[in-house]
Amino acid sequence: MAGTRRRDGTWKSDGQPRITLETPVTYLKGVGPARALAFERLGVRTAGDLLLHVPTRYEDASTITPINRLETGMDGTIMGTVISKGILPTRKGLKIFQAVLKDESGMIEVAWPGQPFLDRTIEKGDLLLASGSVRFYHGRQLAPREWVNLGDNPEGLGGRVLPVYPATEGLSFKLIRGLIEQHLGPLAPLVKDPLPEALREQVGLAPLGEALRLVHMPATMAEALRGRDRLAFDELFAVQLLQRRARALARTPRNGVAFAKPGALAKQLKATLPYTLTKAQVRTIKEIVADMLVPEKMHRLLQGDVGAGKTVVAVFAALVAIESGYQVALMAPTELLAEQHHRTVSALLAPLGISPLLVTGSLGAAARREVATRLASVEPVFAIGTNALAQEGTTFAKLGLAIVDEQHRFGVAQRAELGAKGAVTDVLLMTATPIPRSLALTLHGDLDVSVLDERPPGRTPVTTVRRPESARTRVLEFVSRQLESGRQAYIVYPVIEQSEKTDLKAATTMFASLAAGPFAGKRCALLHGRLPTAERDATMRAFRDGALDVLVATTVIEVGIDVPNATVMVIEHPERFGLSQLHQLRGRVGRGAEQSYCILLGDVGDVAASRLALFSATEDGFKIADADLTMRGMGDLFGERQHGVPTYRVADPLRDIALAKQARAAADRTLAADPTLTRAEHGALRAMLGARYETALTLFRTG
Ligand code: ADP
Ligand code: MG
Repeated sequence: MAGTRRRDGTWKSDGQPRITLETPVTYLKGVGPARALAFERLGVRTAGDLLLHVPTRYEDASTITPINRLETGMDGTIMGTVISKGILPTRKGLKIFQAVLKDESGMIEVAWPGQPFLDRTIEKGDLLLASGSVRFYHGRQLAPREWVNLGDNPEGLGGRVLPVYPATEGLSFKLIRGLIEQHLGPLAPLVKDPLPEALREQVGLAPLGEALRLVHMPATMAEALRGRDRLAFDELFAVQLLQRRARALARTPRNGVAFAKPGALAKQLKATLPYTLTKAQVRTIKEIVADMLVPEKMHRLLQGDVGAGKTVVAVFAALVAIESGYQVALMAPTELLAEQHHRTVSALLAPLGISPLLVTGSLGAAARREVATRLASVEPVFAIGTNALAQEGTTFAKLGLAIVDEQHRFGVAQRAELGAKGAVTDVLLMTATPIPRSLALTLHGDLDVSVLDERPPGRTPVTTVRRPESARTRVLEFVSRQLESGRQAYIVYPVIEQSEKTDLKAATTMFASLAAGPFAGKRCALLHGRLPTAERDATMRAFRDGALDVLVATTVIEVGIDVPNATVMVIEHPERFGLSQLHQLRGRVGRGAEQSYCILLGDVGDVAASRLALFSATEDGFKIADADLTMRGMGDLFGERQHGVPTYRVADPLRDIALAKQARAAADRTLAADPTLTRAEHGALRAMLGARYETALTLFRTG
């Protein structure tokens, strides 16, 4: 027999599988459907994706501490062989998996509390890489914060640079390493380099194929960095190209509308507002209005912490456009949020006789027709909706102002497309994710920034506390009492499903046990990202309308939803979340008159404890974001995803400042020479942009 036919139609000759960049990982040796699913969670679908699954860090002699040099209180990374192991029960019923690791210098005990199942995956003789802090417990003991099982036959790992890969449940280091070693050689030459050679040489970057070899199999740390820089450059360059291009489109023609000064409508709104504007609101409204009065396009970012009151600022801006006879679009990232805005704004504008239009994907045919008619007429209209507003079929006759709420939830291209719906449209971006001004400039190009740095008065601060695992029963009783008195609660988990590898409590399993146990008799529902959107929205609506008492959820609830009657937020495994993410979550409570609580539940290590203490002590989103940035790097601040691929997988715009500058200069040079990227030498670049960002190429249409 000469070979076998694979399911995807390619031919596999004996021992010599013909694998291309497009081959799904399922067909690689050692990967079945289950592992392919695990890979999918990492954004790896094809063999080509696997090459781009790059190490998160490297270890070599300079980063690994000899075991005998570890001291109590110290944080370190060690590499040692398991010489003994076992499960240790404690009096409290907790089971601890322990192993003794040995290297050339000595031995140390490593302990994983509550993870007895590790006994099945860690074998005597396995080489482990582990990082964590050393404490004193009948001798030195390392509590791993992070660890990798390098397996039982890691030949040749000793002296060289060891890449550490982002792993996930169901994928061992050994498997990932093995696959990459096996396929890198044949596949690297097939990779098309998106950068024209001249540009690459000018910036001094390695060719892509070589860079991939350097990141996966570096001989030295310097090689690893050279490879990494090339991949980071590509990410930064892609973003810069889109931003510079979007900006160029937005500025041609530069001329925008010079709207008339705020008149009767603004006055009426001020008179009928149920509250007085804060000083910060008055100031930011002035800044925005000043932009709108000059005949140049506005491109402004409004930053304001959760609950700072951005919506009403946007409404004042909208009135300026409406009063001058223009249309306004306000785009929100979810249907629910769009509905919420629609309701709020309708209430604010009812006394003025203005009723906003709701534009979402789930409108019926008749409603859609009505929307189309109203947008196509030149009558001033305030359209509030989802990205349906930015889609191809939606046409505005006279769009004067485009407002994008929670702007970081949208892609670069999507934001630009809404702005491009009218030739003269002013753009106002809004975000609750506070980022330093300098960073905002790097990320968004030269836009203006307004900051809402004051909260409306009369808010009761949310009481934030951390409670150990041993207090679980008391915490849940507390929640039950809140429910008894008619309040609602969120219980948040870091993962959807439980797994042996991570030992995290998960939304799905905890939902079942909470609904049957402590909250039996209460109306509970489960909410997570793998549920169909329609089901998710229905659940959120039911919670909003008070038809549910408890929402057991993952972070899908973090975007701006407003349920004033919800007064408790319990977050399990709080150490698993970024501080800014915790802040967004906490922002879901404390929105009504009642005292609200945010309870961080679980046992955490010392480092996490100090981060969480900082979080508990302040409600200032800017302080929290600062702390988050210094402690975690970009983390989840820029979770912008398309095709499930994060914008920055390798690059870190906070640290790669020099590289980002080069990328920006290169983007400007490229666009100056070929604004629509239509020259042959830019073919691969186009393909790269299209593959990375679903809608990117609409910015480079030639017709
Ligand atoms: P965010 O900035 O998070 O989008 P919102 O615009 O949703 O905040 O406002 C949060 C809440 O604060 C809303 O219920 C809104 O009515 C209220 N609010 C806004 N401005 C003021 C103010 N100046 N005084 C009192 N309440 C205000
Ligand atoms: Mg908001």
